Formats: sequence, structure tokens, C-alpha cells
Amino acid sequence: MRLEFDDEEELLRTTAREFTEKELQPYLDALPDAPMPRETVQRIMRMVAPLGILSARLPSEAGGAGMSYVQLGILYEELPAEVAMDASGNDLALFRLHHGCTAEVRDRYVEGLASGRLLAGSAISEPGAGSDLSSISTKARREDDHYVVTGTKIWSSQAAVADVLLVAASFGTDERGRARIGRLLVDRTQSPFTIRPTEMIGLRRHHMAEVTFDDCVVPGTHLVGEPGEGTEVYALSWLSHRPCIGLIAVHLAREALARSLAHARQRTQFGRPIGSFQLVQHLLVEMSTLVDTSRYLCYRALHLLDAGKPARYESAVAKAYATEAAVKVTSMAMQVHGAMGLSVELGVEKLFRDARMLTIPDGTTQIQQLIAGRELLGLSAVRG
Ligand SMILES: Cc1cc2nc3c(=O)[nH]c(=O)nc-3n(C[C@H](O)[C@H](O)[C@H](O)COP(=O)(O)OP(=O)(O)OC[C@H]3O[C@@H](n4cnc5c(N)ncnc54)[C@H](O)[C@@H]3O)c2cc1C
Repeated sequence: MRLEFDDEEELLRTTAREFTEKELQPYLDALPDAPMPRETVQRIMRMVAPLGILSARLPSEAGGAGMSYVQLGILYEELPAEVAMDASGNDLALFRLHHGCTAEVRDRYVEGLASGRLLAGSAISEPGAGSDLSSISTKARREDDHYVVTGTKIWSSQAAVADVLLVAASFGTDERGRARIGRLLVDRTQSPFTIRPTEMIGLRRHHMAEVTFDDCVVPGTHLVGEPGEGTEVYALSWLSHRPCIGLIAVHLAREALARSLAHARQRTQFGRPIGSFQLVQHLLVEMSTLVDTSRYLCYRALHLLDAGKPARYESAVAKAYATEAAVKVTSMAMQVHGAMGLSVELGVEKLFRDARMLTIPDGTTQIQQLIAGRELLGLSAVRG
């Protein structure tokens, strides 16, 4: 297993880290802890587009940055968490579009999404369908040269600011009575839908929303791939995205550790820096070990994917471990800071709230454990 970055990866890491420290983070810190206006999101996406994160998974001949998964992971680890979450809207949409979109859709949207001129989100989850994608009830019915979409989506990242949404819908049932899940690209300007923003505990500058499609008319050319292929394409996109979410968690945990180390050196009690107490050192070493193990698990999964291995087990444990570890590390950071750690003024509590958001998307911790268990045992705990 490779534990070090090569020269190109190291350069990317240094560039992204310096860009975050000097430009992105100060810019974000000046904004309220609330959903950013669309123009601000767009401005930030244009700032990060040259790094390649928006189109990383698209080959260069298809208009993308054509990066390796390890390189993409480096960007997810180094950029601020809310920026990485916003960027994943375009990143995932482009990956999912690349698998089956028509020439018309490609020519009209790919360049704009890769450059950050256009913003995208993916609408999959529904009030009655979260972990179980097969139970979605949003319907797409064919009429002449277009589709009519009806249904409600929830927790849709970026939907409130997105120009386009890639929507998972049921196109009838197959011979075994299961939903034939397919994807439609819905352009807000030609196929209007209703948005209700959803307030969340963390990642509050990132947008999440409920989306309602009420007989929404979508051109037939906006069908991506064949109805029935959706489940496979979503699974493929989550496989490589899970370690990336794990690395967003690592970013937050790393920041919590850095702030805790600084505080433990500077804060004195009983006439000594609190970092000189063994119990505080225990906390800090535990935090550091959780950060290290999370990083290794995430990059192991991405490295295996780059090598063409399926890495289903590695991807699932990386996401489950790193996101749960970040919740622990950011909570321990609040402990190291005492009451100040709980004050909104200091902002350590924001790291905890942000980390808490990450154990749910792209499959909850329990779903990751079921995927890993199935890979270990060859037995599915969900379906026989
Ligand atoms: C930050 C964030 C971003 C998101 N972005 C998007 C997005 O862009 N687009 C989108 O469509 N959705 C998005 N989601 C939604 C996300 O994909 C779902 O929340 C997730 O799939 C879980 O579904 P649920 O919330 O309905 O929980 P449920 O599926 O109802 O699960 C509830 C609980 O039951 C457990 N559970 C469920 N089934 C099993 C089982 N078989 N065995 C054991 N335990 C089980 C779960 O682990 C969980 O603890 C996002 C969510 C978050 C928090």
C-alpha cells in the first residue's frame, strides 16, 4: 500500500492548502453562518474550478479535468468543508451525466458545469425513500417527445441555487415488479420546480432543500442513459464519492486537532499549560490517531479505485470510519477548549456541527457497515 503522495499529488495538495488558507477560508469566515447567496456560491465555484474538482471524474477528451481519484480526494481534504460540499454538486452531476447523456445535453451543459458557470444538484432522496433507493415514488411518464415528472425530493444539496438538477425517477416497473429507476436532467429555466429550503444543524452555508415537481415537463433528450440503469450509475458514483466525504470529515477533524494543540500549549491552569497534563495529552493523541487512521482508510480506498479494483469494502469502511471519527475528534476538541469550546464565538462548535452532517449522506454509517459486512461475509443483511 502506498502511504506517500507522489510529486504531482504533493504539488496539488500544497496548492489547494495554500489557496484555502490564504483566499477561500478568509472569504468564507467573513460570511454569515447561513446559506450563501447564489452569486457567492457561483463565485466560489469559479474560484475552485481551475483546481479541477468540478469535473475531476470526467476524462479530458470529454471536457473534464481527468484526475485520479487520489487527486480528487486531495482536493476534498484540502478545501473548506462547505466549499467541498458545494463542489460535489457539479462533480457528481458531471460523473452521472457522462454515463449516458445525449449529445445535446453534453454540448449544452458540460462546459458550464466544469467551469462553475452553471451549478448542479442531484435529487434522489424522498420523504419515503432514503437508504432504500428502490422505493422512490417520483414518477416520469413519457408523453410525445417529452417526460412529465411528478413527485417530491428532500435533502437535495444545492437545489436552491442550482441551474440544473439530475433527478432520479421511476419509469414504471420491470418484469419483477421493481421500479425502473432512471435519470432526467431538469433545467430550471425550461422545466420549473418548487423549492423549500431546509435548515440544518451544520454545513449551514451549504444549501439543502425540498424540491417538488408538479407535472414538470422535461424534454425527451434530457433522459440520461436508459430507464433502469439509474441504480447502477448511482452505486458507481457513491463508490468513489464515499472516501471523498470521508476526506471532508478529515479536513474538519484536522482543523479541530490543530486548534486543540494550539490551545493546549497556550492555556494554563494550576500554573502549567494544560497540554502538560497526561489526561489532556491522552485526548490529543487519541484525536491525532483518529485523524491518521481516517486519512489512511480514505486514500487506501481511492488508491485501489485508481488501480481498477472494486474497493466496495474499503470505500464503505473509509466513509463510515472517517465521518464517525470526525464527530468524535470535533467533540474532543470542544472538551480540550473547556467552556470556550462550546461558545459560538470561538467556532470550535461549528466544526462539530459540520462533522455531524457527514455520517448521513451517500449512505449512513449503518448502511456502510451493511455494505462492508456483505463484502466480508458474502451475505446481505438487507436482501437475501
Ligand atoms: C449533508 C447531506 C447532504 C445530502 N445531499 C443529498 C443530495 O444532494 N441529494 C439527495 O437526494 N439526498 C441527499 N441527502 C440525503 C441522504 O442521502 C439521506 O439522508 C440518506 O440516504 C439517509 O436517508 P434518510 O435520511 O431517509 O434515513 P433513513 O433511510 O430513514 O434511515 C434512518 C435510520 O435508519 C437506519 N437504517 C435504514 N435502513 C437500515 C437497514 N437496512 N439496516 C440498519 N439500519 C438502517 C439508518 O442508518 C438511519 O440511522 C443528503 C443528506 C445530508 C445529511
